[in-house]
Amino acid sequence: MSATSYWKLILTTISIPSTRPFHHPQRHSALHCGKVSLETLAKRFGTPLYVYSADQIAERLRLFQQAFAGRDHLVCYAVKANSALAILKLLADRGAGFDIVSGGELERVLAAAPEAVGRVVFSGVGKTAAEIDRALTAGILAFNVESEAELEMLAARARRLKQKARFALRVNPDVFAETHPYISTGLREHKFGIDIRQALRIYQSAAGNRWLDAHGVSVHIGSQIRSAVPFGAAMERVNKLLKQLRPVGIELKTVDAGGGLGIDYHGGSFDPAARVHEYATAVQGALQGFEGRLLLEPGRFLVAQAGALLTRVLQVKRNGKKTFVVTDAAMNDLIRPALYQAHHEIVSVKPRAGRGRVVDVVGPVCESGDFFARDRKLAPVEPGDLIALLDAGAYGMAQSSNYNTRMRPAEVLVEGAKARLIRRRETIADLLAPEVLVKDN
Ligand SMILES: *Cc1c(COP(=O)(O)O)cnc(C)c1O
Repeated sequence: MSATSYWKLILTTISIPSTRPFHHPQRHSALHCGKVSLETLAKRFGTPLYVYSADQIAERLRLFQQAFAGRDHLVCYAVKANSALAILKLLADRGAGFDIVSGGELERVLAAAPEAVGRVVFSGVGKTAAEIDRALTAGILAFNVESEAELEMLAARARRLKQKARFALRVNPDVFAETHPYISTGLREHKFGIDIRQALRIYQSAAGNRWLDAHGVSVHIGSQIRSAVPFGAAMERVNKLLKQLRPVGIELKTVDAGGGLGIDYHGGSFDPAARVHEYATAVQGALQGFEGRLLLEPGRFLVAQAGALLTRVLQVKRNGKKTFVVTDAAMNDLIRPALYQAHHEIVSVKPRAGRGRVVDVVGPVCESGDFFARDRKLAPVEPGDLIALLDAGAYGMAQSSNYNTRMRPAEVLVEGAKARLIRRRETIADLLAPEVLVKDN
């Protein structure tokens, strides 16, 4: 094949769909994020390196805000998807609130955008008294309460601090959402939320407590859900609950539809605007008669496709029939393939001509689970080449660890032609600092 027709093939068949900010601006040019070459970024900041497009994150938030523009709403970005301070700031500046699941995430919001604390909802099945106190004092919007015991604890903390607590019951609508079992949360058998059949009784008993303000109701049925149907079904059950609450004088101000809207990791014909629109139609259509404020908690949808993990090939190794591409990134940097059998598209920053080969892409960590792809057809790569794992913006760095005493990657945020370091690479000193060497035992 001539080099020209090879490039044509690359650009048409492996060409990265426009749902991602990563592209080859010209034939033979390196993969870019927006206007910035990943080759340049690797030289400047080293590898492995997380690269995010600020433009795409802002655009995805805008899509959400537009889809719900017809009504009072608030997009509360789920911090756990990617909790980089710079990303929180970017979203807060554009009007987003936050869904947090720990006191640590609250501190991140307070550090990045203290002015947004009134737009924070606090979810999570195991809040401690200290976390509740901090959130109450900071003045968050509401607590998404996951059990009766937690509601009692919230009331007790509120009384102690003499600060009324706004809460939403996180109900479990018993809706099946087709996704990976580890990220499905909306069935009665899951640990999350309160059985929706118990909700009426709990709201009624809370109504007698002057330290509790029944502000809303919330659900979150799971993650990486690509159909709008289960979201609509969950909201229908919530609407039924609202209709049981009104006659007893409980008028909730907010409905929180949770997060969970998925992306297409394999690429293909996925139109983010159409997907959000379909989602918004299903959610709003199921809430006929509810005039209050709608909260949305997208995480993955806002940040996943904006990010890539840039890594360098260390070795190409043959064992019998198998070929292993060993990279300088590993499962501690991006655990999704090991944890959820997740698929990430892998592309060369500077594709080489030649025939593709079926390979395993693996990291250097001492675990058989340390792989990014198995039996994947890849364009030819050589040691020293840069490759990018796409759609790594959500649950990538956020789930990283120091396993094998590996320093976690640096992170870069690209805005137009500008690339800014938003987290420096860890050093060995960072890793050893908390440890105590006991010398005389
Ligand atoms: C994880 C989580 C989200 C975000 O889920 P995504 O799939 O990333 O959109 C939203 N709300 C709650 C309560 C969560 O636990």
